[in-house]
Amino acid sequence: MTNEIIGFIIRIPQCEITFRIKEGLEIKSICAVKKNSETDIDIVEKQLKEMNTNEHKVKVLYGGVCGTDMKLIEGKYPIDDNKLPLTIGHEFVGRIEQVSNDSEAFQVGDYIVGKPTLKSCMECENCKSGYINLCKDRERLGINVDGAFTEYINLSEKSLIKVNFLKDVKNGVWLEPISVVARGINTLKLKPNYSVLVAGAGAIGVLTILMLKDYGVDITVLGLESDCTILEYLKENQFIDGYMIKSSGSENYNAVIDCTGNENAINNLLNLSANRAQVLLLGTNKFNMNI
Ligand SMILES: [Zn+2]
Ligand SMILES: [Zn+2]
Repeated sequence: MTNEIIGFIIRIPQCEITFRIKEGLEIKSICAVKKNSETDIDIVEKQLKEMNTNEHKVKVLYGGVCGTDMKLIEGKYPIDDNKLPLTIGHEFVGRIEQVSNDSEAFQVGDYIVGKPTLKSCMECENCKSGYINLCKDRERLGINVDGAFTEYINLSEKSLIKVNFLKDVKNGVWLEPISVVARGINTLKLKPNYSVLVAGAGAIGVLTILMLKDYGVDITVLGLESDCTILEYLKENQFIDGYMIKSSGSENYNAVIDCTGNENAINNLLNLSANRAQVLLLGTNKFNMNI
């Protein structure tokens, strides 16, 4: 076990860089911490909280860095002062090291991914309608409760999904962002002849494009100058039908999907949408936007 490796994957559009950290080094939790009144990142030692009934001890193997993590690090996402230093990370895959006594569903050695919503109020309209991920009072892993960028984490059984079926366990880090995209796209009613405009070519944008391919729709991407390499790659390999860097063209898109959370991008999408177009906002939005 002493040579066990934990790693963190940083995603940028065209490639994947894995930072590997050998177990045994003095690395316990990657935290957003406040230094000199600015939010920053550091590696700090944190006590593992005690295992409650129904909780399993998980060894984190890989983590994916989400746009929200970057916002937390850069101080662009509000963190309650008394939660600092907060261990970030909500996209991860791990292995069960210790199970709670009465568990029949999980065993030591099972590979798992975690659900980012740990707990919700179960009383508000969202909770009653089954949308616990939209509850205003929810506990969010790595956002308002210590998260997964750490060696070990204790999580309740209902927050875990078994992924022993994965051929390469590292791919487990994609399941959380893929589920975000899948849930959003499933709410649309797409027909094969539709033209769809996607804003953004980051991780969520690219996953959206890959998933849209299955619907046989015509895909155009609205991107930035800095996205040109990935956009060219997507076009050359026929993942998309076209792209634009500046918002232009006529208002003829049957569905528009924002994967940026950016006010301007959303306004551009709306300007290019056809009458009765479907609109999906997948990006993490700023809190007060002018749309
Ligand atoms: Zn995320
Ligand atoms: Zn609620």
